[in-house]
Amino acid sequence: MSTSPTRPSSATNAAAFERAQRVIPGGVNSPVRAFRAVGGTPRFIARAEGAYLWDVEGRRYVDYIGSWGPMILGHGHPAVLDAVREAAARGLSFGAPTEAEAELAEAIIAEVPSVDQVRLVSSGTEAAMSALRLARGATGRAKLIKFEGCYHGHADALLVKAGSGLATFGHPTSAGVPPEVVQHTLVLEYNNVQQLEAAFDAHGGELAAVVVEPIAGNMNFVRSSLPFMRRLRELCTKHGAMLVFDEVMTGFRVALGGAQALYAQALPGFAPDVSVFGKVIGGGMPLAAFGARRDVMAQLAPLGPVYQAGTLSGNPVATACGLATLREIRKPGFFDALGRRTQSLREGLAAVAREAGVPLCTDSEGGMFGFFFASTLPQNYTAVMATDQPRFNGFFHAMLDRGVYLAPALYEAGFVSAAHSDEDIALTLEAARQALRS
Ligand SMILES: *Cc1c(COP(=O)(O)O)cnc(C)c1O
Repeated sequence: MSTSPTRPSSATNAAAFERAQRVIPGGVNSPVRAFRAVGGTPRFIARAEGAYLWDVEGRRYVDYIGSWGPMILGHGHPAVLDAVREAAARGLSFGAPTEAEAELAEAIIAEVPSVDQVRLVSSGTEAAMSALRLARGATGRAKLIKFEGCYHGHADALLVKAGSGLATFGHPTSAGVPPEVVQHTLVLEYNNVQQLEAAFDAHGGELAAVVVEPIAGNMNFVRSSLPFMRRLRELCTKHGAMLVFDEVMTGFRVALGGAQALYAQALPGFAPDVSVFGKVIGGGMPLAAFGARRDVMAQLAPLGPVYQAGTLSGNPVATACGLATLREIRKPGFFDALGRRTQSLREGLAAVAREAGVPLCTDSEGGMFGFFFASTLPQNYTAVMATDQPRFNGFFHAMLDRGVYLAPALYEAGFVSAAHSDEDIALTLEAARQALRS
């Protein structure tokens, strides 16, 4: 538990940011880290332990980002660190199969009945991209549906926003993506059953897949309604399109079996065709996966015609980290305790906002939560973006000043770990009380 830095630091966040901006575009290796949405100087992290981050200035923060989801046990869990050290000592990478990869695949499959086989990759982007190639290969069709506000990584075909009319194909949201590359991607409003039906009426026979975040965590926290999910499943089945659940964020985070376990509880017999995982299954190391029934996965090389590969796929250190993490969260009672803790945070936030007379809505599932400065819970991206942005930004900075690190954008979800104690939650709620007063 040393607090002394092991290497010279630039001493202030501002100096570290300046230095980084000279050699890295925007000073960051993933855009949201630059604080553009909320303004101000990103905190440069020196170390983390349990529920806390420390920046280069030595300031401590209660961490509600958890590396955007993976750190479900908190930082530096002893069993995870031991597993990583042992694996590293045996070798960093072999480019040949290991037994641990099958063990991790077994652990994932054991909790997700819709999945018979998985393939391990290194990022959620790679997993989602490969899952869609698989769906296209398996169906022999080209077209995709995605929903506005859902994020599936930065593969070209998924960097797309809605076109001007209903059931028209999309426009790229990034320079460098030619319009032809997204011409097969249809973008619809989340939770809008009518649009879904119209799109299937127009294009059902050409659709390879519908990809969805079942609980969207990249527009804060928005659940698919049950009627929407039921109809989505019916339409995919009727038209022979694959329902692809992107559970990179929700998998092993909202429940052990992911969001699909929750929808299967509410809609008997429900299952997606393809599932995509990441974040928690790597426990903080670069690891992700996609999986499906055996006959679908048999389409992948080397068995089938759909090509997919990776030098570092199933990396032994990442695999050991993921396995150790899953071992902990599969222990009885883990999710009940995590869910209760997350709920006490969000109910506390709602109570503090009521006291302050500030309209605030919250939702959570397992260890994932959202809060909105709005009087009703948004059901789609437009509604999320219409919530009170100035108030969110003010709240974000007021919390950061008080040692609470929330996601630096109103369209991101929050995460609670098993390391967050009642005292951490109480400290957070007291900070929120002061922040909402100011
Ligand atoms: C994070 C995320 C991704 C992308 O994963 P990376 O590992 O960042 O490439 C894809 N889908 C969802 C739902 C995510 O939350």
